[in-house]
Amino acid sequence: MKISRISVYKKDLPLKDPYWLSGGRLKFEVLDATFVKLETDVGVSGWGEGTPWGHTYVPAHGPGIRAGIETLVPALLGQDPRLLELIERAMDVQLPGHLYAKQPIDMACWDILGQVCDLPIADLLGGKRDNGTPVASSVSSGEPDYMLAIIDDYRKRGYVAHSAKVGGSDTAKDIERIRYLEKHRQSGEIILYDVNRAWTRCEASIVMNAVSSLGVTFEQPGETLDDIAEIRKLTTSPISVDESLVTLQDATRIAREGIADVFGIKLNRVGGLTKARRLRDVAMAHGIQIFVMATGGTVMADTEAAHLAQSIPSEFMRACWSCQDMLTVDIAPGSGPRCKAGHITIDDTPGLGVTPDEGLLGDPVAVYTV
Ligand code: MG
Repeated sequence: MKISRISVYKKDLPLKDPYWLSGGRLKFEVLDATFVKLETDVGVSGWGEGTPWGHTYVPAHGPGIRAGIETLVPALLGQDPRLLELIERAMDVQLPGHLYAKQPIDMACWDILGQVCDLPIADLLGGKRDNGTPVASSVSSGEPDYMLAIIDDYRKRGYVAHSAKVGGSDTAKDIERIRYLEKHRQSGEIILYDVNRAWTRCEASIVMNAVSSLGVTFEQPGETLDDIAEIRKLTTSPISVDESLVTLQDATRIAREGIADVFGIKLNRVGGLTKARRLRDVAMAHGIQIFVMATGGTVMADTEAAHLAQSIPSEFMRACWSCQDMLTVDIAPGSGPRCKAGHITIDDTPGLGVTPDEGLLGDPVAVYTV
């Protein structure tokens, strides 16, 4: 089997509501998504989606995916998409780094392998757990009552996990946010306080120590792994690392040095499932729990993340995400897993299990053939 044709689509994904991170420092309204269709000489095709969360969140951006794919194409056409680590190696040689540009290609290859094996990707990753995965809401930063209103809205839809965005330079306001939301947290609910790198070491120490008795988990409370390692020494609250977990080397350092208790694995950032499954294994070997999420995107990106999430035993799996619920557009109506009662559950459809309506993607912006 050989890759014979690669079609690339660009699609803007407007958010239903403007979204604020880092205590209001970063604003997001539209996501730039890239969809990739890999066709083979035997008639099987696979789909991938790469959707960074804007271009200010992490070093990844929509046009960069499409430029990266153009560079990768000579290393991909004619290759067997089922041989995932040969594809991975070919991409890493052709274009070192730029993991976010490789993720949609990797995703489409997994989709093809699953169809060929007649298994969902979660089974290829080791075996699908039958229980669904809790979905975390994503709560834009703002006044405490505004944030609680967002959580209340998600609660009505069955959500029990929430990622509340904090991280302003006003440490008193962050302390107020956390105390207010914890006061109104319901039994059995998880609220993760996501700083998205915004704090200095000093700010992290002030806020985390002020609320240490609440036992809440903070995600990415500093800019770098070095910052978080120092914040770790200054505080006692559990810590999740998200944006600074990119490579396998990052994962092994975090695990061995005890920098964090939780991994936040985002598929687009880490380069797709082939690389992400290694991060999963490092986490489980070190007693580290895991959030698995798309960086952003439609039901396709959510589904890729849900496959990995459902390959993880529940004692290690905290939550995944349903970014699709934050968008005004759906590129695969009636297809793929949706968030039901606060959970996403993969079915037994071989491969990815979701295919976009090509009519909704428009014409490809690039087509490459052998
Ligand atoms: Mg995060």
